[in-house]
Amino acid sequence: MIKVVIASNNPGKIKEIKDIWGDNKFKFLSQKEFGFIENIEEDQDSFMGNALKKALSVVRAVNKPTIADDSGLVVDALDGEPGIFSARYAGINATDGKNNEKVLRLLKDVPPGLRGAQFCCAMVLVLPDGKTFSAEGRCKGMIAEQPIGNNGFGYDPIFIPNGYDETFGQLPNHIKRGISHRADAIKNLKENLMASTHYFGNLLRD
Ligand code: IMP
Repeated sequence: MIKVVIASNNPGKIKEIKDIWGDNKFKFLSQKEFGFIENIEEDQDSFMGNALKKALSVVRAVNKPTIADDSGLVVDALDGEPGIFSARYAGINATDGKNNEKVLRLLKDVPPGLRGAQFCCAMVLVLPDGKTFSAEGRCKGMIAEQPIGNNGFGYDPIFIPNGYDETFGQLPNHIKRGISHRADAIKNLKENLMASTHYFGNLLRD
């Protein structure tokens, strides 16, 4: 069993990563379980930069393989905003509701055909010796005219994934977990890991 620390204090994200990963070769533990409770500032200029910063901060403190991700909503008609500012688009400590309102207000006059958007996720696994595996994931869709549904979090009530007529806020969790940017990033990260099994096995098995 390979023990991996998740560099996050967000219980929803920790559960989602554990559920999506879904194999028993890995045992995921939260950073809190290692006494690391600090929230690391996400001040880099890319999702990957932020994910790396979080993973490196935790791996240096706990000296165990550590996984971290950073994600957000990228809206075509807003030149990629909110992007890395997704959590605080309507201001520091903004609620999900306020962030959603801001996106909808800015897209008020944008017709359905031009409301394309995607969720993006950068994910990294960093080993104590600094070896880094990274991957990105995407989920394409469009921004709804108004928020609908209470499932999920963040921008889920205003995001309609391609191939569906309902928002992530309406769709059941198992659908989102199958097609989300985080699921895509985890699939790609696992492929990278599997391509390095020799290195990976030697370093990670206890
Ligand atoms: P972070 O990866 O925890 O920094 O996420 C940044 C922000 O992106 C969150 O606060 C949400 O607003 C948004 N976000 C990331 N992933 C999702 C998702 O799966 N659904 C809805 N919003 C998301």
